[in-house]
Amino acid sequence: MKAVVLRGAGQFACEEICPPVIGPGELLLQLGRAAICGTDLRILEGKKTKDVRYPSVIGHEISGTVYQVGEGVSTFQKGDRVAVANVLPCGDCPSCLAGRSNACQARLAIGYQYDGGFAEYVRIPAAFLEHGNVFRLPETVSFETGALLEPLACCLRGQRNAGVSFLDTVLIVGAGPIGLMHLQLSLAAGARCVIVSEINGMRREKAQTLGAHMVIDPEREDLTERVREATGGAGVDRMILAIGAPAIVNGLLGIVRKGGTACLFAGFAGKGTCSIDANIIHYNEIHVCGSTAYTRQDYRDAAALAIGGKIDLESLATHCFPLEQFQEAYETCRSGAGLKIMIRR
Ligand SMILES: [Zn+2]
Ligand SMILES: [Zn+2]
Repeated sequence: MKAVVLRGAGQFACEEICPPVIGPGELLLQLGRAAICGTDLRILEGKKTKDVRYPSVIGHEISGTVYQVGEGVSTFQKGDRVAVANVLPCGDCPSCLAGRSNACQARLAIGYQYDGGFAEYVRIPAAFLEHGNVFRLPETVSFETGALLEPLACCLRGQRNAGVSFLDTVLIVGAGPIGLMHLQLSLAAGARCVIVSEINGMRREKAQTLGAHMVIDPEREDLTERVREATGGAGVDRMILAIGAPAIVNGLLGIVRKGGTACLFAGFAGKGTCSIDANIIHYNEIHVCGSTAYTRQDYRDAAALAIGGKIDLESLATHCFPLEQFQEAYETCRSGAGLKIMIRR
């Protein structure tokens, strides 16, 4: 089968390799779509190495068709269209026991410990079936939407951590695919006003189409000033940072209202260090939170939101390349020309 094999930092290519052999209780998935994620870019470039194996096949935003069913599997049949929640929490570490399985300290994941979606066929280990990580897609739902349930689940976790709710004013910094998912989730959660800050014109336009109340180009406008005006000087209730740029954190803390929340959603580039005026947090009683991965409940809720038509994932999938053209897909993704770049068989 064709697969994109990662052999080291910056060393990857579409190759012909043996398809996976499945055992009892497992599934073999024929790829529908796999989306390239910002994390994948960091892995391909060698900037992220935690839990990364060489050689391996990465890709963790996956949908497809059940191609083969292992002995003893009764819940799925050949031909079923499914999406996969790629993270399997251990259930037994302090994070899992505290109800934060998204931050599991001993997680196993497809696209990391197990080969992932940038391949014609993907093996789904038995534990993923046993724990409900394989999600059946209704006929009306595309493989694009199926693959993007995973990042949507991550965003839903971020929204929950940030506490976005009725009548909030929300600032979303960055309108890449993740920022655009946050925008839609905030609207679905009942936000009164969602402001999006983004330097790329195409992305600002997309934010507007998806319902942003205000879009700001921070290179040409004073973000702080515009937000002050829009909030009567109070600042935003919730700020979600969907760009991994440490240098902008301090300025953004200043436009969160007293008692508001700043969610540092995106993973930060480099060492992630920056200097902040701690008194902004102190005097303004700002809650600062992070967000990592998703719980199985987040994934199911994300699926319900997308399937119920509350969130448009379909139009975020702007490009699709076959496995053989992975290099082109990778470069398109890096250029920021599109939104979500999808890979197909
Ligand atoms: Zn991802
Ligand atoms: Zn755990």
